[in-house]
Amino acid sequence: MMKFAAGGVALLGGGCGDGVRAGRSGKPLVAATTTMVGDLARSLGGEGVEVSALMGPEVDPHLFKPGQRDVQLLRGAEVVMYGGLHLEGRMAEMLERMERHGGRVFAVSEGLRAGSVIEADGAHDPHIWGDASMWADAAGYAAGRLAGYFPGRAEEMRARGEEVVAALRGVHERLKGRAEEVPEGRRVLVTSHDAFRYFGRAYGFEVLSVQGIATVSEAALADMARISGVIRARGIKAVFVESSVSPATIKRISEETGAVLGGELCSDALGAPGEMVDAGGRMVDKGTVGGMLEYNMDTIVRALR
Ligand SMILES: [Zn+2]
Repeated sequence: MMKFAAGGVALLGGGCGDGVRAGRSGKPLVAATTTMVGDLARSLGGEGVEVSALMGPEVDPHLFKPGQRDVQLLRGAEVVMYGGLHLEGRMAEMLERMERHGGRVFAVSEGLRAGSVIEADGAHDPHIWGDASMWADAAGYAAGRLAGYFPGRAEEMRARGEEVVAALRGVHERLKGRAEEVPEGRRVLVTSHDAFRYFGRAYGFEVLSVQGIATVSEAALADMARISGVIRARGIKAVFVESSVSPATIKRISEETGAVLGGELCSDALGAPGEMVDAGGRMVDKGTVGGMLEYNMDTIVRALR
């Protein structure tokens, strides 16, 4: 049975007195913002909950503006999970307000180790899923929070949390191994927006991007010229477009410099759940954070090595 809060009431859903907020399946509903957070919620929640993500594949979280249906989904959810660090630019204030007012709402980035968040241009970089070991920390934290919200399933959720953390640590080790297939001097990743700082730090790539951390600003001509200069000077073989960002700028840089288009990376959105792709001889699910990272790494390695 659908159960939405009546207009104007209980946006902040304290979770007391009104029973369990159920999804279409009748199971308690966990709402997630991005595809990455949705994947985490599904793998931690298991059969016991229904997960609904606001954003689908190819949706840019920096620009996403919730519609009325999205707000209803948030109101109707038992728990709301989001990325945080201002990833959901146009929803951040609303989510933080819900959290402050005692809603069952949390950002997975709250679980990161002190000092691990990258600061750039006076802001926190929200693209933490680029480093599988940091996403593992976020997963462990999220498992604990969900276990607290669903005491009847706490043990199951904690056990799932341990599995998810271990799997992500495995992905992290494989990614480190694959990065070494690219000679050190060639580990330069040119993309449209600055979504790969954590990936670069974890796996040893220098990252150059035309736009900043958010996708809001248009690429300035001066930045394009600067990056084209670096590509020519260093003989960088390939540049990469992103699935959730317009490819126009990167295509222009490719035409200007002769660097080939190395492929399409998933930066701020995963593929569709269950979209199986080959990543260097391993079939991986591009709709999961681990699978997406292995797919990205394979694309990068094949283009740059
Ligand atoms: Zn981004």
